[in-house]
Amino acid sequence: MGAASPVSVHIFNANKWRQNCYVLVDSAEGHALVIDPGFDVDDISAYIADRQLSVTAILATHTHFDHIAGAATLQDRFGGVKFLLHADEENILRDVNIYTMALRLPRIAAPNPRIHLQDQTKLRFSNCDVVAHHFPGHTPGGCAFAFENLLFTGDLLLRGQDNAPKLPGANKAQLKKSQDEIFSRFPGSMLVYPGHGRAVALSELHAYFTELQSSTKGLV
Ligand SMILES: [Zn+2]
Ligand SMILES: [Zn+2]
Repeated sequence: MGAASPVSVHIFNANKWRQNCYVLVDSAEGHALVIDPGFDVDDISAYIADRQLSVTAILATHTHFDHIAGAATLQDRFGGVKFLLHADEENILRDVNIYTMALRLPRIAAPNPRIHLQDQTKLRFSNCDVVAHHFPGHTPGGCAFAFENLLFTGDLLLRGQDNAPKLPGANKAQLKKSQDEIFSRFPGSMLVYPGHGRAVALSELHAYFTELQSSTKGLV
């Protein structure tokens, strides 16, 4: 992101799963864009309300419970904000409460209304485009969102076994293909904001996954 960019990124991850919700803020315009509002919804709401920001949209990298737990609440609190997800996530979303029940968590309300985005769908924010890139593998409708030199990847590029939840919708071969595609499509200098863990340069992740690949060769 250029020095002149008025957009800042705020991270909410004080939840049990250390799931990162990102709020992009254009403070000059008073606009906010929310990516993956999970269980920190009260903190996220307070942040937005305190600054009197208007929420442009809520984007979903995918619809596993920890990433969408707060979406419907945010829509309620901020006047029916639109929620964008890939159509191939609908089946994952439909089953979301199988997991909240198993984990004895409160039931998650499905976001409404929902708007379907596709690969290369663009959304205007702060005089730039946020571009959706469809990358199936972690879930069928998983998306990464590119904004200037930032890339929000959800759970597509998580480091460490502990961060790779065995949740429904995963397809290992497809995920590998999507990861390779991410590394070839975007410059290594892009800053990746993952669904869990700290922000890191795409080149560093590329090195990590290349190493992982060679060290596990022959084991599977
Ligand atoms: Zn996930
Ligand atoms: Zn996750």
